[in-house]
Amino acid sequence: MKENLNPFAIAQAQLDEAAAVLQLDPAMHAFLREPMREFHFTIPVRMDDGSTRVFKGFRVQYNDARGPAKGGIRFHPDETIDTVRALAAWMTWKTAVADVPLGGGKGGVICNPRELSQNELERLSRGYMRAIARHIGLTKDVPAPDVNTHPQIMAWMLDEYEILTGKHEPGVITGKPLELGGSAGRGPATAMGGMFTIREAAKLLGIQLEGATCAIQGYGNVGSHAHRLASDVFGLKVVAVSDEFGGIYNEHGLSPDDVTRHQRRTGKVIDCPGTENITNKELLELDVDILIPAAIENQITSANANNIRAKIVAELANGPTTPEADNILNDKGVYIIPDFLCNAGGVTVSYFEMVQNAYQFYWDESLVNERLDKKMTTAFHAVHNMAQAKKVDTRVGAYLVAVNRVAEAVRLRGWV
Ligand code: NAD
Repeated sequence: MKENLNPFAIAQAQLDEAAAVLQLDPAMHAFLREPMREFHFTIPVRMDDGSTRVFKGFRVQYNDARGPAKGGIRFHPDETIDTVRALAAWMTWKTAVADVPLGGGKGGVICNPRELSQNELERLSRGYMRAIARHIGLTKDVPAPDVNTHPQIMAWMLDEYEILTGKHEPGVITGKPLELGGSAGRGPATAMGGMFTIREAAKLLGIQLEGATCAIQGYGNVGSHAHRLASDVFGLKVVAVSDEFGGIYNEHGLSPDDVTRHQRRTGKVIDCPGTENITNKELLELDVDILIPAAIENQITSANANNIRAKIVAELANGPTTPEADNILNDKGVYIIPDFLCNAGGVTVSYFEMVQNAYQFYWDESLVNERLDKKMTTAFHAVHNMAQAKKVDTRVGAYLVAVNRVAEAVRLRGWV
């Protein structure tokens, strides 16, 4: 039978497995399987040539029992409502596993930002905010960046929101530039949080991080920061990195400075001097200690899971591994740090950003990282201990921790 790659079907199947272990009440299970609320809208954008294009946008508020919905906005040509639903579900489990007082949400626009000028991108970003402004807010739903959205886009969206409401409310969106109330350390936060979980997993497995080999798929916000932190802070040897155009390899390790400079100049990592070009498929199957998928969903499937040779798969991307691939990796003894645990550093520092905005009192990066380390280390061990206690794999362990917390909030509110 062909593997089902619909991300929302995957998110629901993962929840079903956890619900069975937890013997979750059927009504609670049914409630947690679906988003509480979703918005579908059109965004007309005046293009530079005077024509108007109509883009399709979504915002899903999956569950807000533990606090306001929280989740990024993705601009992508292949965006679908089911991708947004899946990402919103994973955000719900992520904020719960990280134990921050937030729910889960996600947004998206079907568009190819590479085909848009800066002015068109600004008008699209402002149009997105106009469409959702009445449904979001500090106490309702707080967006953030995701694939193809960045601090400048957050700045335009914040500005549009504040024009509409007539007041300053920086905490309404996170991942902002520092000058507009962003948090120190938010840029690298997802990668930094993931590195803390890798450090903890390596300790458990007896892997010495200094000099351990690593391959990273994806060289955007998360992947490029992961490269720098892995090499410069944690002493790993990153032998391969890639983006959507392909990858590069050097057995002696790749310098983050060299790759970043080359990528800025050419828009790609391939053909970086002193490296050998490889495909994304080859990168995933390299004989390395640690593999970090940091691109998009469905990269490790039943088609390639048998060829994965890493000892640790640290899922900085959301949904990079399908359930069938999960089973194969677990049978092979690969230690998976599941996505909504591994990449919870971004939302954790987003939460810190909201706290700082509320107090108008800002922390330095070392304090942010110290608090992030504590949160991530606690979450990692909660998941690991749960998996050990219930004799399940780490992904199910993460679901057990998260679903218990969300279900308890739902129950206490008397919703189910
Ligand atoms: P980004 O847009 O900055 O970068 C994405 C990278 O992936 C780019 O280098 C792109 O070329 C590459 N890519 C896209 N398709 C690919 C493919 N088919 N094969 C190989 N590479 C491909 O996005 P990002 O913010 O770095 O997010 C990456 C992943 O991390 C996503 O799954 C996202 O949901 C997840 N994530 C991001 C954050 C955050 O704070 N930005 C937080 C949690 C999780």
